[in-house]
Amino acid sequence: MTRTELFERQQAYRRTLGKAVPFFFFPMITFFGTISYHGIHIGRGSYWPEVAAFVALAALLAATAIVAPRLKDRQLRKMGLVCPSCGEALVNTTGQIAAVTGRCGNCGHRVTEPG
Ligand SMILES: [Zn+2]
Repeated sequence: MTRTELFERQQAYRRTLGKAVPFFFFPMITFFGTISYHGIHIGRGSYWPEVAAFVALAALLAATAIVAPRLKDRQLRKMGLVCPSCGEALVNTTGQIAAVTGRCGNCGHRVTEPG
């Protein structure tokens, strides 16, 4: 892979991350929407919508905390954005160093073809 290809893969990866954002915001909006709607009606019945919303959000956050890093690692490997020597993801600071120098920002292993 050349430095240009690395840079393009990093951009494609960032676009992929952008697509995942609604999946994190939708449950939050639903949760706070439920809380605020039923907050107006406090003292007029049961609290089950708040409890149900809280339990659902907690379960979703726990599932996200377990699944999201695995999906991220899989996506990075699929896109070839992992150092073959140390396994560090070639994104963020490590990726910027790799895009500029052609070497892994973590271990210094050459990750792009010279030139
Ligand atoms: Zn490395």
